[in-house]
Parts: sequence; C-alpha cells; structure tokens
Amino acid sequence: MSKDSKKVFTTSKLPKNTGVSAWVAMLPSRGEKPRLEGALTADVVVIGGGFAGLSAARRISQLDPALRVAVLDAGVIGEGAAGRNSGFIIDLPHEVSADDYGGDSASKSQQDIVIHRSAIALASDIAAEQGWDRDIFDPCGRYSVAISERGDQHLVAYSEQLRKLGEEHRLLDAKEIAAITGTHCYTSALFTPGTIIVQPAAYIRGVADCLRGRISIYERTPAMAFESDAQGWMVKTPQGWISTGKIILANNGHAESFGFFKGRLLHIFTYASMTEEFDPSRLPGERKWAATPALPMGTTVRRVAGQRGDRILIRSRYTYNSRQIVSEGALKRAGAQHDRKFKTRFPGLGNVNMEYRWAGGMALTLNSVPAFGEVEHGVFAACGCNGLGASKATASGIAAAEMMLGYNSELTQIYRRFQAPKALPPRPFITIGAKANLAFREWQTGTE
Ligand SMILES: Cc1cc2nc3c(=O)[nH]c(=O)nc-3n(C[C@H](O)[C@H](O)[C@H](O)COP(=O)(O)OP(=O)(O)OC[C@H]3O[C@@H](n4cnc5c(N)ncnc54)[C@H](O)[C@@H]3O)c2cc1C
Repeated sequence: MSKDSKKVFTTSKLPKNTGVSAWVAMLPSRGEKPRLEGALTADVVVIGGGFAGLSAARRISQLDPALRVAVLDAGVIGEGAAGRNSGFIIDLPHEVSADDYGGDSASKSQQDIVIHRSAIALASDIAAEQGWDRDIFDPCGRYSVAISERGDQHLVAYSEQLRKLGEEHRLLDAKEIAAITGTHCYTSALFTPGTIIVQPAAYIRGVADCLRGRISIYERTPAMAFESDAQGWMVKTPQGWISTGKIILANNGHAESFGFFKGRLLHIFTYASMTEEFDPSRLPGERKWAATPALPMGTTVRRVAGQRGDRILIRSRYTYNSRQIVSEGALKRAGAQHDRKFKTRFPGLGNVNMEYRWAGGMALTLNSVPAFGEVEHGVFAACGCNGLGASKATASGIAAAEMMLGYNSELTQIYRRFQAPKALPPRPFITIGAKANLAFREWQTGTE
C-alpha cells in the first residue's frame, strides 16, 4: 500500500456508562484482564467486548483455532450494555406487525427467528460447556404482559401471528398471570418458551472468561485509532499498538465515532432500576419470572430470587442521545418513572426502595437492519444491534467472523442480503423528530 493511500480512522469519543448496574454490583469481584501495553501482532483485532465482539472471537476460534485474536474493550467486560441489560435472549420477533401477516412479514419473522436462534445456540453451547446454573442462564421462557385493553388486543394479534408461524405459545388470563407474578395489575399475558433469561453481567463475564486458545482480551484498552499499513492495519491504544491483518468492529454505536455509518445510527438509551432485597413472603407467586411488555415501548419487569431475598427489576423509558452520553439528570427522571411503575405494579411492596439505577446505549437503524459488512478492506462491522442485542448482536458477531474467514452458512447468507442502513434526516430534524417520536410512542403506551 503506498503512503498516499494510507487510511486513518480515529475515534471521536469513547463509551461512558451512567449509573451502577445491579447485575455487576450483585456479583463477586473478578480479576480484570490486563490493559494492552507495548507492541503486539495478531491475526484479528476485535474492537468491543460485548455480545457481538465476544461471539465473533468465539466463532473465529472454532473455525480456525490457530488464529491469534486480540479483543479490546474500552471498559471492563460486563459493565457495558451487554452486561447491563434486562437479560432476555429472545428467540422470536419482538413486535407484531401492523399488516395481516402475509408473505413479507412472515418471511421477515422467519429470518429473525433463524438469527435469534443462532445466537441462542451459541449461548446454550457455552452454558452446557461451563455447566452454568439457572441463576446465570435459565431457559425458562418469557411472558409478554398486558396492563390495558390495548395490550390485551396486541397479545391476541401476536398469538395469531405465532400460530401462523407454527411457534409454541400460550395465552394466559388475568388470574393465571397473577398466580405467577403475585400482582393483579396484569390483564393478560402470552408465554413463549424459547427465550433464555440470563444474569447479563455474569453471562458476558462467563463468555469472556471461557474463551480459549490464542484469544487474548484486554480490558480498559480502548482502540483510539487504526490506520492501514503494509501488513494490513495498525490499531492504536493509549499504551500500545497491534499490527493485524483484520479487524472486527463490534463497538455498536461507537462505529460511528470512527466515522463508519455516519448519520445512519440512532443512538437510543434505555434505563433500569433494581430494588433492594425484600422478604420473598411479601410477594406471592413464583420467585423467578421475566416479563416484557405487550406494547413495544412499555415496561420490562423481572423478579430475581436471591439467597438473602428477592428483587424486582423495572426497565422502561427511551431517550435519543446523539452524543452517546446520558446525564445524571436523565437517569434521575427515568428513576422517578420507574418508582411510579413499581408502585402501580406492586402496591404491597410499598416501603421497598430502588437500590440501583443505570442507563445503557443501543444503536438502531431506520430500516432495522444491522450496520454490518466489510466497511474497509479487512475491516468487518458487526454493529447496529437494533435493540435486541443479546440475540441480534451475538448473531452478527458470529456472521462477521464467518464472513471474514470465508465460511458460508445460512446466517452469512441472510446477512449478505441485508440492505445498508438508511440515512437519517439531517440535524436538527433528526433530533426533533426522534425526541417527538419517542415522546409520542411513550404517551401512546400509557400504563403498559
Ligand atoms: C437497560 C437495558 C436493557 C436491555 N435489555 C435487553 C434485553 O433484555 N435483551 C436484549 O436483547 N437486549 C437488551 N438491551 C440491548 C442490549 O444490551 C444491546 O443491544 C447489546 O448490548 C448490544 O450488544 P453489542 O455487543 O452490539 O454492543 P455493546 O454491548 O454495547 O458492546 C460494545 C462494546 O464496545 C466497547 N467499545 C466501544 N468503543 C470502543 C473502542 N473504541 N475500543 C474498544 N472498545 C470499545 C464498549 O465498551 C462495549 O463493551 C438492553 C439495553 C439496556 C441498556
């Protein structure tokens, strides 16, 4: 490569996590992997140690164990979005479509199911290998819960679509879901058995810690820049550099910070709160369950059983943050909403307070496609999680690894067919539009 054609990509910002995730706080401390210091040579550098990056590293080691892989994470494994989510690795399409579910919608759903189940297959293999118990990895399925007539109607429509897809599911009435959740707030529910429920920080730490062979992980080691050279690429970190042939960009929204998918990623943040422990006898029903809302903008709730007591997780609220930073004020406002939602759902737990509150980022695209593919010679992106990153980012990490190594699979065929993410409207229209859209959809969601 001549000096003139040298390409340089420098990041304009690094990720910053707001609030302390309960999932990390509840775990024992773990020895961090070292920072990168000095010079190194690798066959592949993976930038980002979330679902996408760690899944890509695992898939590379399966396909070609001789390759030397360096995974860089700007922070600590488990403290980013992959370890601070609600822990649903969902198998089915999340939302019902507005049409009558004919040709296009049904085949898109079938494609989503292949994507999601590829992720679940990887996660299940690791869980079996490591002998994880159900506190880390629980194949218990999920409830979609309604709290209003609109939610009920939505679940009936969802059930009809699942029937057409031939997917197992069960509708529950208010009494049946109350027996499980111990609260009478839900008007109906739909159970699907294929979702895996994880302790997300334990899961992602576990995935990192079981990577074997020639894979090295470097924590607190952000990739600051990468530039082309005679060998391929030189990745620069604050205290070192790596000469490599190939790169997998698995840093979700921060792909844009390096200049990729400019003006095509919607940086949406969502928020969660977890209560302090309470005496399990204070809430009837089952001690462990996980529920997503019937309406997409609604509230996710989990009951988490612990040895010293149980906790409730509330996840709701979405904000658009183009700079990928959430303020303490935004976290506080979301927390006030969580408190209200908690009180409505669990009036009997009146004096139980929230102990942890946190926010985390996601990258969505207008046309709901991943930010995926070879973006420069030897640089493969597995970004743009579109909200369901536990499934989608895992699968795109697998697909990026397979594509990079020339391996053809059902997954790579699907990913090759994806269109490019659509351009967003320019600023300030996107800011005004995204904020207004989120506010309107939250209002429409009402109590859900
Ligand atoms: C509160 C909350 C609840 C959620 N619930 C769910 C759920 O139940 N199910 C679900 O499927 N999804 C859920 N999500 C979304 C899910 O967490 C994300 O979609 C998922 O984490 C995306 O995975 P990823 O690997 O693409 O990106 P990330 O998990 O964001 O990982 C990217 C990594 O890249 C690193 N990075 C960034 N820049 C650099 C750099 N320059 N150098 C090195 N490293 C860098 C970051 O530190 C980060 O660790 C939730 C999100 C939140 C915040």
